[in-house]
Amino acid sequence: MGRALILLCLLASCSTPKHLVIFSKTEGFRHDSIPDGAAAITTIGQELGYEVTHTETSSDVVDIEYDVIVFLSTTGDVLNETEQHFLQQFVENGGAFVGIHAATNCEYEFDWYIDELVGAKFDFHRQIKELDVDVIDEHHASTCHLPNPWTRTDEWYVYDRQPENVSILLEIEDGDGRRPIAWTKQIDKGRSWYTGGGHTKQSFYEPEFLEHIKGGIIWADGD
Ligand SMILES: [Zn+2]
Repeated sequence: MGRALILLCLLASCSTPKHLVIFSKTEGFRHDSIPDGAAAITTIGQELGYEVTHTETSSDVVDIEYDVIVFLSTTGDVLNETEQHFLQQFVENGGAFVGIHAATNCEYEFDWYIDELVGAKFDFHRQIKELDVDVIDEHHASTCHLPNPWTRTDEWYVYDRQPENVSILLEIEDGDGRRPIAWTKQIDKGRSWYTGGGHTKQSFYEPEFLEHIKGGIIWADGD
C-alpha cells in the first residue's frame, strides 16, 4: 500500500501538467477587454492546475500541445485551412473548446466552426445595459453558483439563429426577443462551452462571471 502510494506520487509529479491555451487573435473588431480577460483566465487556468499560454499567433493552434483552447473575443478570419482542420480534429477527438463573447464573431467562412462548434453567429448588439439573466440549468458546473436571475451589465449579443443541438445554460430577454446567451455542445468525443458575456473589462473582475468561466473550463475538459 505504502509503496503503491509512493509510486502514484512519483507518477503524478513526473507527468506533464495539462495545458490551456488562450487565443485572442482579432482580424475584425478588437475588444479592449482582451488583456483583462486573458489575465483573469490565466489565473483561473493556473488555479485549476494548467500551464497557461496566451497567444494571438494562429500557428500556435497547431504547434502547441494543449488540452483546452479558449477563444477569447476572437474576430474575423483568424485561422487558415490547416489550422481550421486541426481545431476540428482536436475537438472531435476529445479536446475542450471554450468560447467567450466574440468567439461567435469569427471564422464565418468555416462552416464547422459556426454550425457545430459554437452553434450560432453574432448578428448585432445594442448599447451595454443591465439585464436579468435567467439560469436555465442550475446544476451545471458553470452556473450552479449563480443567483437566479443573475442581474449583470454587459453587451448582449443577438445571434443569427437559435443554436441547435445545444444544452442551454443561460437565457436573456429584451426588446430583441428571448434567446440563449450561454450553452454547451457535445461534439463527437469533445466538448464546447460558450458564453456571450465578456464584452466589458469589468466582466473579468466580477467573481460570479469568473466562476462561470471556471466552471465552463472544468466542464469542457471533463469526462
Ligand atoms: Zn463586444
